[in-house]
Amino acid sequence: MTAVNLLDFDLDGLAAYCATLGEKRFRAVQLMRWIHQRGEADFDRMSDLAKSLRAKLAGVAEVRALPVISEHRSADGTVKWLFDVGAGNAIETVFIPEDDRGTLCVSSQAGCAVGCRFCSTGHQGFSRNLSTGEILAQLWHAEHSLRRAGVSRPGPDPRVITNVVMMGMGEPLQNYAAVIPALRVMLDDHAYGLSRRRVTVSTSGMVAKIDTLREECPVALAVSLHAPDDALRDELVPLNRKDGLAALLQACKRYLERAPRDFITFEYCMLDGVNDSDAQARALLELVSARGPAGRVPCKFNLIPFNPFPQSGLKRSPMARVQAFAQVLMDGGLVTTVRKTRGDDIDAACGQLAGEVQDRTRVQERLVRLPLPRVGASGRGAAAQQRG
Ligand code: SF4
Repeated sequence: MTAVNLLDFDLDGLAAYCATLGEKRFRAVQLMRWIHQRGEADFDRMSDLAKSLRAKLAGVAEVRALPVISEHRSADGTVKWLFDVGAGNAIETVFIPEDDRGTLCVSSQAGCAVGCRFCSTGHQGFSRNLSTGEILAQLWHAEHSLRRAGVSRPGPDPRVITNVVMMGMGEPLQNYAAVIPALRVMLDDHAYGLSRRRVTVSTSGMVAKIDTLREECPVALAVSLHAPDDALRDELVPLNRKDGLAALLQACKRYLERAPRDFITFEYCMLDGVNDSDAQARALLELVSARGPAGRVPCKFNLIPFNPFPQSGLKRSPMARVQAFAQVLMDGGLVTTVRKTRGDDIDAACGQLAGEVQDRTRVQERLVRLPLPRVGASGRGAAAQQRG
């Protein structure tokens, strides 16, 4: 019999499991604290658990860590883990330390079915959804291995990871059922106790699921936009063909009614000659203004220098172009940041390490054959991003 993985449960799930063992809810709270706050996996060392409960758990339950294939540490403090999730699949998790925060970028799927044109993960195709336990095992391992390695933050709070972004491999809203309990554990005061503002789901724009997330677990939302018009976004983010930009922006507006932040973050990957012209920046301003299809959408833009990978056929916009593009957005009144490239010495672009493990589907060949409109060639523009 396979042991039950306690990382698969949020508090209600753990309480329900404890009930099957004849145990009260407060035992679930104790377990939650030992596992997630203290990083303990050995029931025998959970000293305030009743001996009878430890005996019941032995052999039928476990805290199932993911095997680590590799751990790369960048000179800038970025740490990237490659985890084995079986059947030749690997996922990536990245820790990014900054002065005021420690951010963990977590994967939600092995591969991704969305197939964004500029994304290394998208080029590898889709293998499977991760379980809640596999999503949380990334956070569990990162938090506690960093602590054991002596990484700390100023002040008495022992937590190294202060922010989680679901921006690694996969489209989190395509794995909704597993992601929601994982989010709840991240937010739970008996586990990681992160505020809703510090947990971000990043989506390529699944409109119906954005509405569901708004009802069930409204955390911060980032949307991978990458293009100012449907023609270009259809090419770069194929999911766009289903709903289109107008419906996506309307969903963003609805989300803001319950979001913990009063803006949506739009991610925009800067691709040389594809989506980086001043005219495209002005089109973005128009898109999120009162004259746009959803009216004014309170937002900020995060411009991401494209991290080239061999099969993409795309180039990073020159930094001067990125800055000029940002200036147009800022002159139009939008808060705009340019993401610093981190961990260049360890292949920080999401999907690059896992892509070296395998390419399951030949999707790479299909994607590199897709033509992209060029700036000036069609009179509109073009765009893209990569995750991670
Ligand atoms: S950018 Fe995100 S949604 Fe698009 S292919 Fe990559 S992982 Fe999937």
